[in-house]
Amino acid sequence: MNNSIKVLVVEDESKLARFMELELEHEGYKVAIAEDGKEAIDKYFAEEPDVVLLDLMLPQLNGIEVCRRIRKESADVPIIMITAKGETMDKIAGLDSGADDYMTKPFAVEELFARIRAALRRRTDKAEENNNNILTLKNLTIDLARHTVKFDNNDIELTKREFELLVYLVQNKNIVISREQILNKVWGYDYIGETNVVDVYIRYLRTKIDDKYGVKLLHTIRGVGYFAKDED
Ligand code: CA
Repeated sequence: MNNSIKVLVVEDESKLARFMELELEHEGYKVAIAEDGKEAIDKYFAEEPDVVLLDLMLPQLNGIEVCRRIRKESADVPIIMITAKGETMDKIAGLDSGADDYMTKPFAVEELFARIRAALRRRTDKAEENNNNILTLKNLTIDLARHTVKFDNNDIELTKREFELLVYLVQNKNIVISREQILNKVWGYDYIGETNVVDVYIRYLRTKIDDKYGVKLLHTIRGVGYFAKDED
């Protein structure tokens, strides 16, 4: 069940490394081993593991340095730092270097499996969250987390209100939305002002998107409302 998941074990005590390898393989993981910090970096890039088990005290480069270097290249691989009992491990330093979790030696192998499963689950959740933060409408991509809008690779600069209006339309793409619905959602129920503010902002968006890129994404249904269209 775990046979497509690769674990990089970084451990300079050969016997312990071998023990972890056997246990992990028995559990169905693929395993790569590195016995010092330099080898850990090399193996990381050669093997592209899904999880890294990283001993803190290592020859060549210590675990914190290894962790930092991996993090520079790869933001999302789970790294579980392993420290020996009695080692003066500054947890904060480890966290700062980008480790996701900690274990203290000696550990029960069941605990190790549980930590690996938890780390992989967190990574999956994060990936899903990132996907949910992206909205698209034909060539238009909206990143909700970063508050950015692109047409193909071109950045489109929007004001906060324009952005909210566009997001609302794209979240409901191909559905006609009335002026009142837009006012309530984007300007709030307590908005008092000109109701044609919606028309004005639709015009701003059209200037920045439809007119600029020669497309027709924002449509008007006279007397009813507006919709964002991504069907032909
Ligand atoms: Ca060690």
